Formats: sequence, structure tokens, C-alpha cells
Amino acid sequence: MEQRFFDSMLDEIYSVFGRQRPAYGTPAYRSLWRRVVEERGVPNEAAKHIAYALSERDSLPLNLGKAILAEFDNWLAEHPEKRARMTACPECSSDMPGFFWAWDAGRRVVCKCACNSDRRFEKFQAWTHRQALAAGLTLRESDMAQDIPGNIPSDIRASLGHCEPPRPAHVAQVEYSNTAGW
Ligand SMILES: [Zn+2]
Repeated sequence: MEQRFFDSMLDEIYSVFGRQRPAYGTPAYRSLWRRVVEERGVPNEAAKHIAYALSERDSLPLNLGKAILAEFDNWLAEHPEKRARMTACPECSSDMPGFFWAWDAGRRVVCKCACNSDRRFEKFQAWTHRQALAAGLTLRESDMAQDIPGNIPSDIRASLGHCEPPRPAHVAQVEYSNTAGW
């Protein structure tokens, strides 16, 4: 998000509640900028939605950064095509942004990628490639070692329950059937 969009988004939110937005360079401003722009990469085009949604609230959220990011998630949920454009994560599978494929002893599983902040999937454990490899998964079917099943400690294997085999019914149920559009 460019600074002028960021500033006018804050102006709109604060003015509704009769407040001045934090001035440029103050700790409050820098904190919001870091969380919203640098860390999450909220785009210009989401600014209007976020400002409007927060203006509809009864009071100015105490944790404005958190509230902005929550509204951004709502916006992403309403615009899956925008999410696809925003995903540039090197660990996600290209056919499934927010997730990646891995193999557990020959069984293909889908892991939620660490980059996935969609609240609809917050109950799923997030993985990085490193964590998946450390847990005994492989990232390519051909890399599968013959003896992997015995190598996975039982406590880690238990956590693999969060990696779900791709089942069409489940995919539809959790609304990521249209993964191509993410
Ligand atoms: Zn990712």
C-alpha cells in the first residue's frame, strides 16, 4: 500500500471517531505501517473497504492494527481472485496458494503453509517446508525414502493429523475447492 492510501485510510477511520490519526514518524504510526504494509502487504485496493468497515464500528478499536488486518482478511475472503494475486510465497504449491503438497510415506497430503493467515483455516497447523521435512515428510514423491514410516516419532506423527489427505468432499466442505482461484 502506498503511503497516501495508508494515510487517507487512517484519516477516514480516525475522523469518524473525532480523533486525529497518529502523526507520521510516531511510534504508533510506525507500528501500524509495519504491521499493515510491511508485514502483510495490504494493497491500495483494500484500503477503502477497511476504512469503511472500521467506520461502521461503534468505537475506534484499541488495537487498530489487529482490526485492520481482520478486515483485510474479510476482504480477501470476499475476493479470492485478489488473494491469488497476492500470493508470492515460494513454499506454496503453485496450484494451491496457501497450501503445499507433501508426501507421508507415499500418501499425498496437503499442508497449510506458514504464510496462510486465512482465519477459516486457523485450526489447521501451519507448516514450513523445513518443518515438514523435519517431521519426516517429503516434498516430492520421488524423494520418498523406503523406510520413512518408522522414522517418524509418534508424537510428530500425531500432529500430522493436521495434514489432511486431499478428499474432494472435504475440499468442498472447507470451501477451498476453487484453489486455482486463490
Ligand atoms: Zn506459502
